Amino acid sequence: MAAETGAVAGLDDAVLPFAVPDLDVRGRVVRLGPSIDAILERHAYPVPVSRVVGEACALAVMLGTALKFEGRFQLQTKSDGAISMMVVDFTAPDTYRAVAQIDQAKLVEAMALDKLSTGDLLGEGHLAMTIDQGSATTRYQGIVPLTRQGLEEAAHQYFRQSEQIPTRVRLAVGTVTTGGRAHWRAGGILVQFMPHSPERLRAADIHPGDAPEGHEILASNDPDGIEDDAWTEARSLVETVEDHELLDPTLESERLLYRLFHERGARVFEAVPVHEACRCSRERVLAMLRGFSPEDRRAMVADDGTLGVTCEFCSRRYTFDPAEVEEGLSPGL
Ligand SMILES: [Zn+2]
Repeated sequence: MAAETGAVAGLDDAVLPFAVPDLDVRGRVVRLGPSIDAILERHAYPVPVSRVVGEACALAVMLGTALKFEGRFQLQTKSDGAISMMVVDFTAPDTYRAVAQIDQAKLVEAMALDKLSTGDLLGEGHLAMTIDQGSATTRYQGIVPLTRQGLEEAAHQYFRQSEQIPTRVRLAVGTVTTGGRAHWRAGGILVQFMPHSPERLRAADIHPGDAPEGHEILASNDPDGIEDDAWTEARSLVETVEDHELLDPTLESERLLYRLFHERGARVFEAVPVHEACRCSRERVLAMLRGFSPEDRRAMVADDGTLGVTCEFCSRRYTFDPAEVEEGLSPGL
């Protein structure tokens, strides 16, 4: 198969961390193949929606694989566009799942007007990124407003505001036809400026006005902010990355990095393989059902007398006998 398609073994469904020490930059390249194809095929969203979900997956997988603990990273949007809600869950160390909710009337309108950019489809609302290590004290959430700026710019804002790390992200989603069918692919690259000296960090691309509430960014003499040369170079190189370079199944991530940073020398670390998998199970669904009130549960029983639940992430259907659900409940509680 590899010979037929020219696909490179080990390239797909993996994140490649890298560093460019000369530029004080660290980063990640993600290439999603069979996993994103499975998710988007299963959901069968209209193409413009699939593209946005693919972008969100590429971003969440790049950020999630940076976690150094067993926990979860969640990217969630809630907004007034055609995609009213979207969730990508990344469970460390290597699995992800995604779901979106569509406002059909708004999608029809967006398609008629050809307003199909990520920013247009999300509209206005907010993007939340949550890092959850399993208890309330180790939960961290950063929120950025969505103002039709798309996910790349929203990610830049998130890192400026929440972590004060100058960041550039490029995301791409598309299809490649093999075996008579179009297969979804997604890719992304992220670079972050992490110099040792705080003065250089301040000079990078943090402008007055970007300061988080209660903080003040030390003003530079240049009202536009003086950019650090190394960061300007790294950021400009990443901004030149084209969609096809992130989607090409024959272009290794190492070669993409060489194209970008050959004059500076990029150091690559061990690739992290990822795959799509849901967290749902019969036990979890049963526990959820038992959390509802008896009235709510009765209302959910279908005409055939069964109680059915479909997982919105993976479309798996769970069917229960209502008696089985009630069984685990102690009377009087
Ligand atoms: Zn599921």
